[in-house]
Amino acid sequence: MDVDIVCIGFGPATAGFLATLEKTDLESAACPGMPLQVICYERADDVGFGVSGVVTRARGIRATLPDLNPAEIPMATPVTEERLVYLLDPLGASRRSRVLKAGDRLLRTLGLPREFGVELPYVPPFLRKHDGLVMSLGQFMQFVGGRLMASGKVQIWPGMPVEKALIEEGCVRGIRLVDQGVDPGMDIRAALTVVGDGPVGAVGRQLDQEFKMPEGHHHREWALGMKMVVDLPPGMELQPGAVFHTFGYPEPEIFGFLYVHPEQVATVGIFVPSWFRSPMRTSYRYLQHFMQHPYLWRYLRGGKLRSWGAKSLQESGRRGEPFLAGDGYARIGEGSGSTNVLTGSGVDEAWTTGAQLAEGVVELLQAGKPLSGTNLEQAYVARRRSSWVEEEGRIAEKARDGFHHGILRGLCGMALSGFTKGNLVIGGEPKPTQSLPDYYQGKLSPEEVDRITGACRAQGLASHDALMDRCGWPAIPYDGQLLVSHQDALLMGGKVQAPDGFADHVRFLDRNICEKCAGQLCIEMCSGQALTPNGGVPAGVPAFDREKCIHCGACQWNCEQGNLVFQAGAGGLHSSEN
Ligand SMILES: Cc1cc2nc3c(=O)[nH]c(=O)nc-3n(C[C@H](O)[C@H](O)[C@H](O)COP(=O)(O)OP(=O)(O)OC[C@H]3O[C@@H](n4cnc5c(N)ncnc54)[C@H](O)[C@@H]3O)c2cc1C
Ligand code: SF4
Ligand code: SF4
Repeated sequence: MDVDIVCIGFGPATAGFLATLEKTDLESAACPGMPLQVICYERADDVGFGVSGVVTRARGIRATLPDLNPAEIPMATPVTEERLVYLLDPLGASRRSRVLKAGDRLLRTLGLPREFGVELPYVPPFLRKHDGLVMSLGQFMQFVGGRLMASGKVQIWPGMPVEKALIEEGCVRGIRLVDQGVDPGMDIRAALTVVGDGPVGAVGRQLDQEFKMPEGHHHREWALGMKMVVDLPPGMELQPGAVFHTFGYPEPEIFGFLYVHPEQVATVGIFVPSWFRSPMRTSYRYLQHFMQHPYLWRYLRGGKLRSWGAKSLQESGRRGEPFLAGDGYARIGEGSGSTNVLTGSGVDEAWTTGAQLAEGVVELLQAGKPLSGTNLEQAYVARRRSSWVEEEGRIAEKARDGFHHGILRGLCGMALSGFTKGNLVIGGEPKPTQSLPDYYQGKLSPEEVDRITGACRAQGLASHDALMDRCGWPAIPYDGQLLVSHQDALLMGGKVQAPDGFADHVRFLDRNICEKCAGQLCIEMCSGQALTPNGGVPAGVPAFDREKCIHCGACQWNCEQGNLVFQAGAGGLHSSEN
């Protein structure tokens, strides 16, 4: 099939692109006499099911949609209150350095903590979202997607993963859909392919491999964001629009958040970053301990899980920027390096890069110019370079390097970069994940770690629960409402399906490498318990259950050996609330 423009993924980046393009009337070159033929393929089962995001200043969104009224969007409301809270460890189970422990003692001596939390007197300006919105990105995407489809100018097709870009002689000519019983999948040829497939997109990675990255650019920093949307208990005093950012617990390296929507609904979640060097960096168990922290539990106790989800974040920001345009293609959104790790903001940046591309494309088409790499550089990349996305992205570029030396230097580095506009930074290079014996040194002997992991693997279980239990983390008091088992969360919080006719989208390249892999971090980090030990000795290739995969992409960046490929696939969470 021939169209004018084909888009990969319907996240905020593509939404910004389409919402800007939709304002114009252009004639199709693929079907002369017809309006511009624009089609977007989305992997997830419906619009808004593959995205995540909550609080945004919405500067770019409001510029494209000046009539935006949060009252018309379910779960959206203006930000009313912001708190930055340091969470102490009420259990003594987290792994804290001596300096941090001494700091905690001092805070206690001064009587500053309230419910084991210390509210900082001030939210630094670079973190503030005071003029923004709390919303559900899924609901927002459904709102925008509905408007776009109703315009008749754009088609959005969910449930249609794109396998790859069609590249001929260095030029992108369109895309191939994943085989769904037609082998190979259908080809869609287009003058412009818009790649907005997010942080772990298969097509983005294909282009990175084909065209390489600009010198010095890399994808080294990641995080896994996991969250729950919760019905708050009746009578809860939190006001809609309240925004809490937290740090310090359940491990010092894990950041958390709680945002309040209208109608007694909140979103609560954590980010587990790649610089947290634990070989057991699981998210689900940590999220349950995070929710039970006394500072948060007084609001959440008695609440009920509505939906749950997880997704990777590409945290290299501007240093993860690939070539933004070439002959026949352009990159937008998080996969193009737009996410800002200093301000903790990705939605508005992604949207804005999409809008910038659309403005450039309209300019070129109206001037009758081809969508070549050179023209897209002038019309799109130049716009982006002179915008706030670029300016703020540069400030943020090295803001988090200090975290490679630990949490305290990391926090100081962020403050330094934020207050000096990126002129002063604390440097640091990523280090590999620690080995199990190293990580548990002082808490468990290497023999005990071996015994526990061996017993878990023989039963086909990940080891993090048993190791955390042994290190003093209490069992989760499941209540069947908010504190539910990981398996129940899959059923209650999102319902996962993997349609027939698709091949497995997680693949292991070399069985021998998995057999020699001591930590099997892909299993420990897996957000959906979709990867499990196969029970053999030696450990062998993990078992993959497509029904449970929620497409978070964390297995891809948690295989430090590069032995796992996360391809485009259908299925995942069925929730448009995330
Ligand atoms: C838990 C969590 C909380 C967050 N909270 C915030 C927040 O509060 N504020 C904020 O500003 N940012 C937040 N972010 C970051 C924000 O979600 C991202 O920066 C933003 O969504 C990036 O937009 P995007 O359009 O580039 O990519 P995405 O939102 O990732 O969208 C990409 C889309 O492409 C689809 N796709 C991928 N591959 C294919 C394929 N092969 N074929 C077809 N479709 C494909 C995906 O399903 C997805 O729908 C959060 C992220 C997480 C994980
Ligand atoms: S995929 Fe990677 S992390 Fe997982 S077992 Fe194999 S080598 Fe280890
Ligand atoms: S197997 Fe699926 S759920 Fe598990 S880490 Fe990989 S993408 Fe996420």
